[in-house]
Amino acid sequence: MACCPKCGGKVKKSDQFCSKCGASLSGESAYQRQEPQRPQKVQRDCGWCGATGKERVFLREACSVCNGRGYNLIPEDWPQCTECGGRGRIFSRGFHFIIARDVKCPKCKGKGWAPD
Ligand SMILES: [Zn+2]
Ligand SMILES: [Zn+2]
Ligand SMILES: [Zn+2]
Repeated sequence: MACCPKCGGKVKKSDQFCSKCGASLSGESAYQRQEPQRPQKVQRDCGWCGATGKERVFLREACSVCNGRGYNLIPEDWPQCTECGGRGRIFSRGFHFIIARDVKCPKCKGKGWAPD
């Protein structure tokens, strides 16, 4: 429940004017609600392709993580992925060392950035 800044009467948050004294309730600093800040999305270098926009193995193909842009839109409060160190890839031994290869990091899906 909010109060009128002028007369102290109880008003609804949705009220534009105080029903008792008629004071304008909008624009008063006491009524400026803090909008919950949505994290901005920012362009971060794609970890999987190293910001080249190309798949590593098939260099003619666009990166499957960033669709060839070289970056992904990441909420700005996300740190670099702790799982892969921001590289977007982790080393997988597979069944045999001959087919060992890098695979997309399961935490950040190859982007290189992930929430903790
Ligand atoms: Zn009032
Ligand atoms: Zn990429
Ligand atoms: Zn990762």
